[in-house]
Amino acid sequence: MTKDYSEKDLLNDRHAEREWMVRTQLIDRDITDEAVIHSLLKVLRHRFVNEDKQEFAYYDTALEIEAEQTISQPYIVALMAQALGLKANDKVLEIGTGSGYSAAVLSRMALSVYTIERHDLLARLAEERFRNQGYKNIEVRVGDGTLGWLEKAPFNAILVTAGGPVIPDSLVNQLALGGRLVIPVGDKGEQHLLRVKKTLENELIEETLGLVRFVPLIGTKGWNEMGKSC
Ligand code: SAH
Repeated sequence: MTKDYSEKDLLNDRHAEREWMVRTQLIDRDITDEAVIHSLLKVLRHRFVNEDKQEFAYYDTALEIEAEQTISQPYIVALMAQALGLKANDKVLEIGTGSGYSAAVLSRMALSVYTIERHDLLARLAEERFRNQGYKNIEVRVGDGTLGWLEKAPFNAILVTAGGPVIPDSLVNQLALGGRLVIPVGDKGEQHLLRVKKTLENELIEETLGLVRFVPLIGTKGWNEMGKSC
């Protein structure tokens, strides 16, 4: 799969490539949320991966990043963002900062994003990317995201970008009334993408959005380092 771009497109920080990505990978599928589409059009995904991966940044695929982790496929990021149903005033928690790409996508649709990463290196690289690209409403913390971020709770939306064995109760507890949690739950090979809504009456509604494959969620309410459910 190759595509030719003019000098102008490259100077335009690959806008044409993103337009192509958004059309063929999002709109031609089932992504209809205008805010999600706009955000993926604007976030420079190639600046969230290493130089040797940049030419593939707008392909329909996940890519390797540092610490043996991955930056999710653009379509999956869009699907999760759409499922969160974000509003401009929402406070969002993300578990699994990774490259920082999905946090950047969410930050353009919400008021603020708090994101937790267990690998110090990834957290530092993501912070540097946010700083260089002018993202000012994202706060990064190193730690075990399965416990949430109690000091900043409650959140209108919580996104987990790694696959766990169960829905961590700590995250459900940190959802505001009317809040939405999106999380891949299953075994290490394959997970169901779940959405949990906490209604204004404090009831939980759970839906399945499809099958996905994420790197493991490792922590107190996730898998342990050996790959067993904690
Ligand atoms: N959202 C990322 C995807 C990263 S992959 C992006 O757009 O690039 C998932 C990330 O979750 C990995 O970086 C992994 O280190 C991290 N992770 C796994 N378990 C975690 C936990 N308990 N707390 C915080 N981060 C975790």
